Amino acid sequence: MHKNIWHPFTIIKDAPEPLKVKSGKGAYLTLEDGREILDCVSSWWVNMHGHSHPDIAKAIYEQASTLEHVIFAGFTHDPAEQLAELITAELPKNLNRVFFSDNGSTAVEVAMKTAYQYWANKGQERKTFICFEGAYHGDTLGAMSAGERSIFTEVFKDWMFEVEVIPYPETWIGDPERANKEDDIIETLEGLLTDHPNKYAGILMEPLVQGAGGMRMCSEEFLQKVHWSNRQFDTLLIFDEVMTGFGRTGDYFACKRAQVEPDIICLSKGITGGFMPLSITVSSDEIYESFNSTDPIKTFWHGHSYTGNPLGCAAGIASWKLLKENECIFKGMETIHLKNFERFKDHPSFEKLRVKGTIAAMDIVTEEETGYLNPVAKRIKEECVNHGLLLRPLGNVLYLMPPYCVTEEELDRVYSTILELV
Ligand SMILES: *Cc1c(COP(=O)(O)O)cnc(C)c1O
Repeated sequence: MHKNIWHPFTIIKDAPEPLKVKSGKGAYLTLEDGREILDCVSSWWVNMHGHSHPDIAKAIYEQASTLEHVIFAGFTHDPAEQLAELITAELPKNLNRVFFSDNGSTAVEVAMKTAYQYWANKGQERKTFICFEGAYHGDTLGAMSAGERSIFTEVFKDWMFEVEVIPYPETWIGDPERANKEDDIIETLEGLLTDHPNKYAGILMEPLVQGAGGMRMCSEEFLQKVHWSNRQFDTLLIFDEVMTGFGRTGDYFACKRAQVEPDIICLSKGITGGFMPLSITVSSDEIYESFNSTDPIKTFWHGHSYTGNPLGCAAGIASWKLLKENECIFKGMETIHLKNFERFKDHPSFEKLRVKGTIAAMDIVTEEETGYLNPVAKRIKEECVNHGLLLRPLGNVLYLMPPYCVTEEELDRVYSTILELV
């Protein structure tokens, strides 16, 4: 470990020496020792079109030599306006107000503050959020409060605020209990909303796929049911699409795939194709209007030094163009995953096969306790690198989330290697 570097999510004493990466091209990373590995996790779920894509590199270069950054209060610029127009044109029609920040946790933090203040602006005090078991919304305090409490959050428990937690109807291919699980949860949700009609600021969730919680997937129908409850009981539906945005679930956004209109959406990981740190929180016109006042107390007093950074926005525009060009790829990847699942479905070592668009996941059957720290993850991670693959199981959950430039043959090879290793 380098003497000046402190790595994230790393148990310092146990950690193997980090692999040094020299360069990246397409779906591959080249290590310092010359080995090439296929990036099956899109480098923490951010890379969309492959590493070092020339179109995005060029857009950043050209922007950097024109305007690298400018204060975003009292000033604006074309890249921010264009990116906001492109993305909102593809979002549900009520979502039109784009607030820029620079990472996923902050996009969620902004969403929670916006929701809370929306009610305050309307003269109501609504402090509590309804959240889901197994959720992950980021590592800042608000985002952490809304996520699953675990060893990761334990030290900070006195700093976090209370939320109401309901189960997530995790499902998989061939799950006979799906509808029952969903109905039970909707009953719980509506119970809370009936018993305390003015208590909840919003319902916050990762739609279709809970990422860090173990690639746990729910159905489109469940989101529609939550949406309906949200409408009936007049609260706010907040979708954390930090991971599911930009084609990941086989449509531009999970809310589009499920045909649901949330009141606020958080986007980050894929927004620049994995090149620049950038995030946005998009609010409905109705929410924005509650802030549209000369009264300073109704103003959203929030911002960051790098808010609306032009380089990030330029990368976002270039990445969006590539996304449009490659629509058939992210829409078609689910079929390739499903074809490969044929080899796994009766295998004794795997269960709960599931897929949404470009994301495929399955549980490895293991004796040990499940969860992020399950030792099987460490073993597979290490062996995969020796076979030229970058995979990072979440505990006993094995998943693939490749960049969209991966080929069908490469995916077939990945699945074959997994079958050899487990
Ligand atoms: C990664 C992630 C976050 C946090 O984003 P960062 O950029 O890591 O702060 C929030 N929500 C979801 C769903 C995520 O996957």
